[in-house]
Amino acid sequence: MSADTAVVRPTLAVWKFASCDGCQLSLLDLEPELLAITRAVRIAHFTEMTRAHVEGPYDVSLVEGSITTDDDVARILEVREQSRYLVTIGACAATGGIQALRNFVEPGAFPAMVYAHPEYLRALDTSTPVSAHVAVDYELRGCPIDRFQLLEVILALLAHRRPIVATHSVCQECKARGTVCLAVLGESACLGPVTRAGCNALCPSVGRGCFGCFGPSEGANVDSLTQWLRSHGHADVTLARLLQTFNAAAPDFREGATNLVATKVTLGAPPRSRKERL
Ligand code: SF4
Ligand code: SF4
Ligand code: SF4
Repeated sequence: MSADTAVVRPTLAVWKFASCDGCQLSLLDLEPELLAITRAVRIAHFTEMTRAHVEGPYDVSLVEGSITTDDDVARILEVREQSRYLVTIGACAATGGIQALRNFVEPGAFPAMVYAHPEYLRALDTSTPVSAHVAVDYELRGCPIDRFQLLEVILALLAHRRPIVATHSVCQECKARGTVCLAVLGESACLGPVTRAGCNALCPSVGRGCFGCFGPSEGANVDSLTQWLRSHGHADVTLARLLQTFNAAAPDFREGATNLVATKVTLGAPPRSRKERL
């Protein structure tokens, strides 16, 4: 193909903030589809895959991770400025992730437990979602995200249409695959009724209650669920801890946990410092 007939591919950039990289890996997990994606878009920045870097602006930016440092605050503004569409991928980016547990305790409590010299750390007292800092065009949920939902979002953006991604609850997927309800059996507390679909009800299918890693579903009624689970023998502290995992700072889950018991009690007293324990 000659230079003047070459098709200009849209650019895709993948950015990491405070995260474990699991959501970025979902893009690599696409494997066969990834080849087709790279024919349709030009990967401009994706350090999990290549050291090559193309300067912006970018058509699509996928952003993984929460905002936890001053540097993150400045960098997410740059990413937003350089991106036509900004899509967050995963619970960290959408709600602050498991690292948002720091938002519920005294500043510095967790670093003091982990590090001998926490004074060398430079981090904000809170972990916040990307949407708290810049406009976000689409949020893809999960910890990690589902790779086929990611593929749908990329295809939708390329076709200039809205992504078709479920916003209903895990329960619907669970019923569709014929899993007997663990909550009704009394075997496990389960957040499936208030958690967004996308995982094909993975945990109940292997005998474990959902712990809400896709975050709240649309119209989630957390109080109704926790009251029902409480009336079936589950302790408030157990239910609050279920809500305080990967999406602890999502408003529906945060309020649900707070309505059960005081949040600081469920997370435990601030731990002793590592130096005290040595
Ligand atoms: S949402 Fe989960 S899998 Fe994705 S980066 Fe955060 S911790 Fe990792
Ligand atoms: S096991 Fe959980 S996700 Fe499945 S139907 Fe029961 S409550 Fe819903
Ligand atoms: S069942 Fe719940 S905790 Fe398990 S993968 Fe699905 S959303 Fe996450």
